[in-house]
Amino acid sequence: MKKKIVILGGGVGGLSAAHELIRRNFDVTVYEQLSIPGGKARSMNVPNSAGPDKKPLPGEHGFRFFPRFYQHITQTMKEIPYKNGTVFDNLVDTTRIDLLQYNKAPIKMVSRFPKSLKDLEVMIRMIFT
Ligand SMILES: Cc1cc2nc3c(=O)[nH]c(=O)nc-3n(C[C@H](O)[C@H](O)[C@H](O)COP(=O)(O)OP(=O)(O)OC[C@H]3O[C@@H](n4cnc5c(N)ncnc54)[C@H](O)[C@@H]3O)c2cc1C
Repeated sequence: MKKKIVILGGGVGGLSAAHELIRRNFDVTVYEQLSIPGGKARSMNVPNSAGPDKKPLPGEHGFRFFPRFYQHITQTMKEIPYKNGTVFDNLVDTTRIDLLQYNKAPIKMVSRFPKSLKDLEVMIRMIFT
């Protein structure tokens, strides 16, 4: 008989724990108080973003970035099938980050250790802005 585990909360934490426990042959039930899972990482419908017969467009409540030193969530993403690949395949490599400010030009930053003169230039400009 499988051991039964109950997880309260269907955010990244609860769902990741469920994923790992199911792989270890536990019988897992996740209880989520909201009508959709995902917690702070879920996408939300943007009100008035589509015509009357269409579903609203999904929007993010914040930025979504996964630095290379994140090992666990990206490993979980590699194990979740999506279309012909995995969720991980949807991640896009970046070389620059724009830090937005109200009423001012964005501050440009490099998102990796500088590898070129252009990267160094962006870094130096960032330090002085
Ligand atoms: C604006 C913003 C931007 C972010 N950007 C990034 C990013 O770019 N990269 C990154 O790695 N992280 C980012 N994060 C952080 C990341 O979203 C969170 O660390 C992560 O989603 C937390 O997951 P969690 O499962 O621990 O908690 P939560 O997401 O809070 O999930 C907890 C869940 O438990 C449910 N719950 C609570 N109490 C009960 C109960 N009694 N019974 C049943 N269900 C219950 C809640 O409804 C919720 O769904 C961002 C967060 C915010 C707010």
